[in-house]
Amino acid sequence: MNNEHVRCLILGSGPAGYTAAIYASRANLNPVLYAGLQPGGQLTTTTEVENFPGYPEGITGPEMMEQLKQQALRFGSDIRTGVATSVDFSEKPYRVTIDDATTLTCDTLIIATGAAAKYLGLADEEKYAGMGVSACATCDGFFYRNRSVAVVGGGDTACEEAIYLAGLAKQVYLIVRKPYLRASQVMQDRVLNNPKITVLFEHNTLGLFGEDGVEGAHLVKRKGEADEELVDIAIDGFFLAIGHKPNTDFLAGQLALDDAGYIATINGSPLTSVAGVFAAGDVADPRYRQAITSAGSGCKAALEAEKYLIDNNL
Ligand code: NDP
Repeated sequence: MNNEHVRCLILGSGPAGYTAAIYASRANLNPVLYAGLQPGGQLTTTTEVENFPGYPEGITGPEMMEQLKQQALRFGSDIRTGVATSVDFSEKPYRVTIDDATTLTCDTLIIATGAAAKYLGLADEEKYAGMGVSACATCDGFFYRNRSVAVVGGGDTACEEAIYLAGLAKQVYLIVRKPYLRASQVMQDRVLNNPKITVLFEHNTLGLFGEDGVEGAHLVKRKGEADEELVDIAIDGFFLAIGHKPNTDFLAGQLALDDAGYIATINGSPLTSVAGVFAAGDVADPRYRQAITSAGSGCKAALEAEKYLIDNNL
């Protein structure tokens, strides 16, 4: 039995978690941060971050996250590996179990566990997992140099991944279910003007095929319309970029969530349905999901945690 008690426990190591750790450690809250499944968070799978203020030349996602981590360490944050697997908010101090093994108690909890990539739900995505199916172009794109790949999605992520892959692969298909892209205009322009990228509007994926890995995809064009058409494309890699699901499964029944599973916060603040439990970053933000907004919410969560500790003489 582990009896460790901390004043401020932080779950997650994206911009929200590390920023909360920087603020909480500078306020002498002695925060303990568990880095979660993907240390550094989603930005570790991004290439250039060009829109974070203060980096006029841009910075890579992994570099930025390493800098945030170093900044949190500099002020004494206790950064550990481990994933929160369950919580118990039924009595104070709150209990959080890490890796189904270690249980800590805490006076305040900042949940910054982020969100994870969504899949289409095709059996073939599992069948070819690690054999041509990926949800991270920057992680796996390297394997597809001079080969053909497809990216599914029409948002900024899909466009960003398609552009990144176009720098490596010989041909990139962008599979878009609508007749238009949802991405910002600048990203749309980059995609549509890239000679290596072919946008397949109004296409859906039915399945994948291949002997020892992905060799192609079965698509349907204008599904359900009179001119519906089955189309096969030859590809070696199939990349998902269709949005994200918040990492809140471990909170089951303990905290109010919205219909999509994001943590419900009070009036856009980090406050949640449980006093002393705060949310920061993508786990509570289906809308903005930017590094800068996540960092800002991590700051707010730490300030709220500090106030809660003072107000409750903890
Ligand atoms: P989005 O939700 O914006 O886009 C998801 C895309 O996937 C949409 O085109 C959607 O289609 C498509 N999609 C969803 N489900 C399916 C499905 N089952 N089959 C086929 N297609 C599907 O997610 P993103 O991850 O692209 O972006 C999230 C947020 O992050 C956005 O606000 C975006 O602007 C931001 N972002 C900003 C970046 C930047 O500024 N550099 C980079 C990356 C993201 P449909 O349009 O039909 O719904």
